[in-house]
Parts: sequence; C-alpha cells; structure tokens
Amino acid sequence: MQDKLKDILMNVHKPARYVGGEYNLPDMDKPCKERVCLCFSDKYEVGMSNIGTRILYHMLNDTPDVVCERCYAPDLDMADQLKKHGLPLFSLETKRDVKSFDLIGFSVQFELQFTNIVYMLDLMGIPYYAEERGEEYPPVVAGGPCVVNPMPFAPFFDAVLIGEGEKNLSELVALHIECRDKKLSKKEFLLKAAQLDGVYVPSLDNPTKRAVVKDLDKAYYPTKILVPNCEIVHDRSSIELFRGCANGCRFCQAGFYYRPIRKRNVDTLVRQACELMDNTGYDELGLLSLSTSDYPQLKELVDKIKVESDKRKIKLALPSLRLDSFEAEIYEEMQGASLTFAPEAGTQRLRDVINKNISEDNILSSLTSALKYGVKNVKLYFIIGLPTETEEDLQGIVDIVKLVKDIHRQFGKSKLLNIVVSTSVFIPKPLTPFQWERQISIEQMREKQAFLREKLRIKNVKYSWHGAESSVIEAIFARGDKTLAAAIVKAYELGCVFDSWSENFDYDKWMRAFEESATDYLRFLEGFGEDEVLPWDIIDNGVSKRYLIEEKRRAYAGVCTPNCLGKCNGCGANRLEKCHI
Ligand code: SF4
Repeated sequence: MQDKLKDILMNVHKPARYVGGEYNLPDMDKPCKERVCLCFSDKYEVGMSNIGTRILYHMLNDTPDVVCERCYAPDLDMADQLKKHGLPLFSLETKRDVKSFDLIGFSVQFELQFTNIVYMLDLMGIPYYAEERGEEYPPVVAGGPCVVNPMPFAPFFDAVLIGEGEKNLSELVALHIECRDKKLSKKEFLLKAAQLDGVYVPSLDNPTKRAVVKDLDKAYYPTKILVPNCEIVHDRSSIELFRGCANGCRFCQAGFYYRPIRKRNVDTLVRQACELMDNTGYDELGLLSLSTSDYPQLKELVDKIKVESDKRKIKLALPSLRLDSFEAEIYEEMQGASLTFAPEAGTQRLRDVINKNISEDNILSSLTSALKYGVKNVKLYFIIGLPTETEEDLQGIVDIVKLVKDIHRQFGKSKLLNIVVSTSVFIPKPLTPFQWERQISIEQMREKQAFLREKLRIKNVKYSWHGAESSVIEAIFARGDKTLAAAIVKAYELGCVFDSWSENFDYDKWMRAFEESATDYLRFLEGFGEDEVLPWDIIDNGVSKRYLIEEKRRAYAGVCTPNCLGKCNGCGANRLEKCHI
C-alpha cells in the first residue's frame, strides 16, 4: 500500500488530503479490542471542519480498548487512481482497508451527500445494501444531522444512530465489543443494539427515541484536536457554548432538532478555550452554537476569553449573532469590518409567519449601530418560497437593501459599502412546523429569482442565489422514504457524486435516475396531510407532532411564539432530557 501510495499521490490534486499524520494524532498503536473507521461523505477540507465528527473521533480514541481512524470521500482523481492500482479505500491513519475495520461509521450531513455514501461503499468494495452484506462485513452505521429522516439512505446501513453520538455511539461501540467477546453474530448484535436509546435498525424498523446528552457541561469535548495538513473550510479551533435553540424559527430544522437546550458553564468554556489555544497553534477561536447571542453570560464569557486570547495573540470569531440581540459592543470587539445579517424574509408579515422575531425597529437600530462602526461589507440572507409568500414580500427584500444604503449615507463611516444579498429556497424539512407544506416548483423558484435579479441591479449590490434544481433534489430526499434508496444507487451509477458541489451537480442525471429506478419522487414534493403517516414518524426526535401542528396554525394566523428562554412553550423536547440554560 505505502509503495503504491507514493505513486498515487504524485498524480492527484491536493495530496495532503490523503497522507494523514496530522499534528496531535492520537496513539494508533495502543492495545485495542475495537478499531472503528469514521467516514465522512465529503472531502477532507469539509470533514475536518465538522465539529461533530471531531468530537466523536477524539472521544473514541480517548476510550480504553478503542482506536478510531478516519476516511473522507476521496476526490474523483483519487478514486480513479485507487481503481487503476486495484486498491480499496483506506483509512488515513494506518492506511488500512476500510472494510477490515471492526465497525464503520458514516457521518451524513445533508441530502446532496447521499450518493457519496454509495460512492464510498463502492470504493471500499462493500455491497451497497445492508441486507446483501453477510457476516464477513463489519456493521456499517450512520449518524449526523440527516438522521432526522434517515429513510432514503437507511437501506444502506445496519444501524442509524439517532441523536447525539457522545451517547449512542459510545454505547454502541461498547456493545459491539461485548458481542464480539461473546462471539455473537452481526444479527444478534443488531437485535441488542436496537434496545439502546437512539439506535434505529432499518431491518427491524424499531421505533427509536433520539439519544440526548444529559449534562453538556460534563460531556466529552476534545481540546487536543487534529491540526489539518492543508487549509480547510473552517480553519480554526472552536468551543461549543450550548446545544438547542430557543427561538423556534418555523423553517429551521436544526433549531428544533438540537433541542432540549443545554449549555456549558463559563469556567468550563474558558478552560476549554485556553487548552485549545495552547494545544493547536490556531490563530483563530470560534464560539459555536445555533444562536450565540442567546448564551446568557455571553459578555462575561467574551471578556474572559478575550483576556486569554489577547495574551496569545489569537483572534475570536463569533458567527451566528441574531439581528435582534445584536450588541454593538460585542460587534465592535469581534466582527471587524464586515457584517452578516439574516432577516430571512423581506416583510414583517412574513417574518411573523416564520417566527423570525425581528421587528423593523430591530433591523433599523442594529444596522445603524453596525454602519456607525465603519462596516464596509454587509451580507444579507433571505429565504424565498416560504409559505404564504407574495410579491410584496420579495419587494420587501429590495426595500431592506435600500434601507441599508440610506442608513449608510447618513451614518456610515466607510466611504464605500458593498452589499451581498443571498437567497436560498425554502425546503419543507421534517421536524419543523412546515413539514407538511408543498415544495414550490422550479418555475416558481426561477420567477422569484428573476424578480430579485432585476430589482437588485443596484450599484455595489451583488445578488447570489441557490440553485433551483438542487433545491428540488434536496426537498425530495428531505421528506422521502426507503423507496428512494434505489434512485440514489441509480444516480451514482449515472455519475452523480459530490452533488453539493455545484460544478458536479447534474439535474438531468437525477431525473433519469428517478425514471430508470421507477421511483415515484413527485409525491415527496407535494404537501402532506396532518393525519398522514410520515416516513420519519417512527423516529421520536423530541419535539412533539402536536406542538408542530400548533405552530403551523400560529404561522398561518401570523402569530409569533416567543423565545422559550424565559418560559417553556411546551414543545416536548424536555421529555428526553431537561432544558437548562
Ligand atoms: S421544552 Fe420548553 S424550554 Fe425546552 S426547548 Fe421546548 S419550549 Fe423550549
């Protein structure tokens, strides 16, 4: 392998992706009973930036008797080289054949990565469907945010881990060691695995409750992390302030999925920040959560970390500030000369429908503060195609841009202001109050984008939009069922891989794949009835269906639901574990 690898690396783009041996690599030679390979269904630069995979990798390596290695989706040139040299996909650390591991785990981040699962299994020489794999193959399991509805890819896996890997992956690995010690078969292991919290076994179709970490403050968090060999998407170390989101934006799957809300304490975070800064040599530290400004002691935390980061000359990055709780003081400290805001909808009416609790006054005062500080670049994010949207709402997006320009004229310190407006297309996602909505058609998406393109022909304003065709594919797989697995395999066979990279996405191939696999995909774009059984109903993700229906009704009535930090709104997520922030 090593000899051939030298030849191969001379012939691929970015060989640093495949060499391994990064700084802070855990001990790969320690005695172990279980060797796990964690696979990420995208490239090295994306996978190395993923916090969930980072946590699980180090957690397993810090577990006695367990060694964990990694495998990222190789780029197409590397796949060609592997085939040319007759080599299977191998792990980064010890260059072992992935199928020789005791357990293989996949992290599936979003719908447009689904063909990459099949691509990687193919390169490993592992049959795609779990039911076609005998005892000679290790169990292949999946986790990651896409498990909210795992059905379209479930047939590829022996088990799907629903919820937080610190809990269910560690329990699954311990169980696998125990079963192998007792010489139990894979089938016997899976029967036992289905009894654990948060383990869905597709062949058993067992009702599954999401696994949740009880006390986030005490949960495992790595501070001696791998430092990558080449530049990655988020090239920094990060601390995670809290999980869950109290805001309840009605389009946002993550906001509901990561509930209940649990936080880490200031002292824990400061300690973790110092250890990360000392152990990695990164010059930037990120503060992560879905809504950082909701962290109750944010000012105290920032002040304490700032003292430590200044000593070490390390920059802080604060990515998800909410517009309404934007604090100029913090902004001045941390954001420099560019500002990112996500009003999501152009009018107050539509912001009320989606429960984006931001008023016109919030927008005005926040932008005024920011522009006063000399901001030169403003990025504005919106969603088009939201339920009840009209042309007036699209015009509202244009009006906000004009408002920014007006404020800049009055208060802006910098002479030049660049504005970038980005729109994504609304996709009705499982576990949101809009999970029953229909997806707008490609023609409607294009009309809306054309409207904005025309109206945003304004000096120093750039408009960028998310592709209509890829949004349709994403929508189909977000709410699809197990019948879609055949279309994923067919699409892969037709050449669909790395679909989330726009240069690779080919809508026509996808349409052919649906046709040739005889998949009725159109029904997943239609609206669902409230009393219909949904493909993901067997999974209990915490927030109750009753609450989602209530929220849908409130959306159509234009009634907002307040942030639940002060008072619980009864979403049901605390059935799994208490909320505490
Ligand atoms: S259980 Fe209550 S406090 Fe917890 S996330 Fe749901 S609404 Fe908010």
